[in-house]
Amino acid sequence: MTERKRQPELGLVIPCYNEEEVLPKLIGALDELALGLPMSVLFVDDGSTDGTSSLILEACRVRSRFALLALSRNFGHQTAVTAGLRHARGDIIAVIDADMQDPPELLAEFVEKWRAGYDVVYGIRTGRKESWPLRAAYHLFYRLLRRVSDIDIPEDAGDFALMDRKVVDVINAMPEHNRFVRGLRKWAGFRQTGVPYTRPRRQAGRSKYNMHRLTRLAFDGLLSFSSAPLRLSAWLGVTAAVLGFCYLVFAIFAHFLADTTPEGWTSTMAVILLLGGIQLVVLGIIGEYVGRIFEEVKNRPHFVVRSVAGWLED
Ligand code: UDP
Ligand code: MG
Repeated sequence: MTERKRQPELGLVIPCYNEEEVLPKLIGALDELALGLPMSVLFVDDGSTDGTSSLILEACRVRSRFALLALSRNFGHQTAVTAGLRHARGDIIAVIDADMQDPPELLAEFVEKWRAGYDVVYGIRTGRKESWPLRAAYHLFYRLLRRVSDIDIPEDAGDFALMDRKVVDVINAMPEHNRFVRGLRKWAGFRQTGVPYTRPRRQAGRSKYNMHRLTRLAFDGLLSFSSAPLRLSAWLGVTAAVLGFCYLVFAIFAHFLADTTPEGWTSTMAVILLLGGIQLVVLGIIGEYVGRIFEEVKNRPHFVVRSVAGWLED
């Protein structure tokens, strides 16, 4: 690995959805952030319905390095990050959350790693300050994903990362719609490394991820990076067929040789319900993939821009 000597420009991408409570703190922290390199900040307003947009606009007015990219509606976190990466400026680009759960001070360490030759430096969450059922769910998800996915997605790595321009270009060139950014980032390859950090609580406001959204993100991750669920369906089918065949042989023997036809109703119901259940589950799994194919085929734009401000205007 060769060390990098040149002075890079750093571009920050910050997705924001109804973050008016935490934004003043974040802007204060960004003002104090001294990394010793030229820096630009791109806030992506993901269709906020509170004062987020006007707060950012106001901040842009007095800071030439700030810009706002406002989307036409709420497209979701991963799409907001996608939009930010498309429009970000700089030789190295970092993605951080608005709620200061990704401490901006850590960027200094990320930049050091980049200088040492790494192309992607991501944060690894060591201590999570969330409730234990959620922590257990995260834990399980990352380990499952790692097991079944075709690429080695690092455990407990979120979207908090610093990327070289060439990696961002690769991600920007990917046409897929169900975007699991941390997976795409890993897929891009190059030299990647993680920096462990304790993820603090969000500084103000509320998490925008509820159980439903988290589950969807988890499914996006699993289904976009693995066809293991389809393989599982096939194995379920094979197992059921083999068991069914064994039972058939037994039933025929019992009927003709032992002359004791098995009792009918209970066993028939059991078989019908079991097989019906398996079939519906498998159909559901296939349906998940078909739905995603449908999304891709429609090929709608990933996001729609409502307005821009700050340096994006030039
Ligand atoms: N976010 C977004 N669009 C959404 C939901 C969230 O841009 O639809 C942003 C949010 O403002 C924050 C980041 O994504 O900057 C992470 O969201 P949050 O902190 O709610 O998630 P958590 O940290 O609880 O997983
Ligand atoms: Mg958060």
